[in-house]
Order: sequence, then C-alpha cells, then structure tokens
Amino acid sequence: MPPLTLKNRPVRDTRVFLCGKVGAPLEGSEHPKNSRMADNIPFKLAGVMGMPIYQSRSPIIHNHWIKAHGVNGAYGHFPVQPDRVAAAVLGLRALGIAGCNITLPHKLAAMPLMDTLTPMAKRMGAINCIVVGEDGHLTGHNNDGFGYIQSLRDEDPLWRADAGPIVVLGAGGAARAVVIALIEAGATTIRLLNRTRGTAEKLAEGLTPTVEVCDWGQRHEALRGAAMLINATSQGMYGQPPLDIVLDTLPTDAWVSDLIYIPLETPLLAAARARGNRTVNGLGMLINQAIPAFEAWFGVRPQSSPELREKLLASF
Ligand code: NAP
Repeated sequence: MPPLTLKNRPVRDTRVFLCGKVGAPLEGSEHPKNSRMADNIPFKLAGVMGMPIYQSRSPIIHNHWIKAHGVNGAYGHFPVQPDRVAAAVLGLRALGIAGCNITLPHKLAAMPLMDTLTPMAKRMGAINCIVVGEDGHLTGHNNDGFGYIQSLRDEDPLWRADAGPIVVLGAGGAARAVVIALIEAGATTIRLLNRTRGTAEKLAEGLTPTVEVCDWGQRHEALRGAAMLINATSQGMYGQPPLDIVLDTLPTDAWVSDLIYIPLETPLLAAARARGNRTVNGLGMLINQAIPAFEAWFGVRPQSSPELREKLLASF
C-alpha cells in the first residue's frame, strides 16, 4: 500500500453491494421520506472504475445530485485491477448497472470492449464514461473535453476559443481532451509544448495546422501574444513541484487555466492572479464532465452549484 497523502486518501468507503453497503451510509442512496418511490421506480446503480480509486471525488458529485433530484439510485467506487477490466466492464451488462466512469489506468483498455463509441470518444482515443443500454449495449463516451469547455463558459459565457493563440502545456490524456475540445470550440491556433516532444507530436497528428508543436525549452517565449495559457501537466499538483514557467511575456488580459484542482490555486494560478490574469482552476472541469454522464444514467440533467462545490472542497 502506498502511503496515504492528501491526494490519495479515501474520501469514504463507498463500495456498493447490490443488497447492502459497507461502512458509512452512501449519501443519497436512501429516500426514507419517499419509500413508495423505491417500490415504483427501478433502482439504478453507477460508479467509477479504476485503481487506485478511493481518492476519486466522483461519488460525492453524483450522490449529491442523486439526493438533490430524488433519484432512486446510488454511485460508488469500483476498485478494479488491470487484469480484471474486461470481466468488470462486461459484468456491468450482466448486473444491469446503469454505467460507470472509467479512470486511470483503464481509459484505453476499456475502449475495445464497447459496442459503440461516440464520435468524441473516437477522436479522444480514450473513454471516461460507459453507458449501458437497456438491452445491455455498451456505449463509450468521453466527456472530459465538454467538461473543460463548460468550465470556461461558467466563468464567462462570452469566452471564445478563437480569441487568440492558446498555449497548452502537457500532452497526456487530459491535454488531448482539452486540445480536441478547443478545436471543436473554434480555436484557430494552439501552441502545444510537452517535456517529451515526441508525445506532443503524436497528439498533434491530424490536428495541424491548428496545433503547432514547440520545444519545451521555448515555453516562456511561447506565451507572447497568447490569449490563454493552459497547464495540462501534473506540475503544481499537491505533492509535485510547481510548474517551471516565467509569465513575463504573457499579456495580462490572457486567461490562465490549470486542470489541477488539488490545490485549488496552484503556484501557476497564484502567480497569474498576482499579475492580473484571469484564472480558472480544474474543479469546474471535474464537475462539468459529470453532467452528461449523470443525465445518461439517471435521466435528469443536473447542474453545478455552490453547495456541490462546497461539498467537494470540504473533502480535500
Ligand atoms: P498524464 O497522461 O500522466 O500526463 C502528464 C503530463 O504531465 C505529461 O504531459 C507529462 O509530460 C507532464 N509532466 C509530468 N512531469 C513533468 C515535469 N516534471 N515537467 C514537465 N512536464 C511534466 O496525466 P493526465 O491524465 O493528462 O493529467 C494531467 C493533469 O491534468 C493532472 O494534473 C491531472 O490531475 C489533471 N486532470 C484534471 C482533470 C479535471 O477534471 N480537472 C481531469 C483529468 C486530468 P511527459 O509526456 O514528458 O511525461
């Protein structure tokens, strides 16, 4: 067992059993005030599958909405070892589970198990959500890009992807989702920089001329004239060193966005705020990517709210 840190400590035991629960009651899974509802409406179960998984805050989000909308359902952690992904995913269908989120390290491995992939999942090359149809049909979705763009529009409904060059640092799974979503949203120039240049070049395949790959060593200079800087690396996350970047050439009216949400204000965002840049942390992306998944599983479109954000913040 790795040592527990703030980031990986379990939020609570939300293992879900079809006929009961372990540990603390699963918030939102019971509706004592309306027991007739449970008699009439089928119980729906969803969860998040990954390993490690108890650090995931997704149960807080979905169980908050389950309670808020009076849904007869529950959402839990599904700890699944890499050699059991196929059995677990196909088991969703056998058990009649509504679906699940898929997180590290299964985002790629679960893809070939799907009956259908949405066009966005195909473009992203990874899934973060499975929806099980009534006939057991498995559809793989990727909502990370939607969540990211929506988090910017929540900050300012007038935000535009084509306001000027966008600098993206990082070329992992999250960067890929963000880059593709930015292009879909109308971005015209994306400067992509990654410590390992080859990974950035692979991400940029088929996305030129919008995406221009630059050397990691050029990252300070690449900010000149940019309308937005996005950190999609792990640098600045709790337990990691700050991102090594000098903001001097970044216009002060540029947006600075960090996908990280632990801490909420990374050293990058603090430095950007201090010089007058508008800043956006990763919490909105986390919440917004959950909206279409919840709607697909439970049939209600939920919304982000100050109460939900408070609940999430209290869990960090
Ligand atoms: P990933 O696939 O492991 O990619 C990690 C990225 O960080 C790679 O580009 C890697 O570059 C770079 N990196 C690692 N160490 C570095 C260093 N010392 N200096 C410079 N670059 C370094 O991870 P991911 O899934 O894309 O996640 C990236 C970040 O996004 C994480 O902080 C994660 O928490 C965040 N995220 C947030 C949300 C949300 O909902 N807000 C969702 C997903 C991810 P190399 O290719 O050179 O290794």
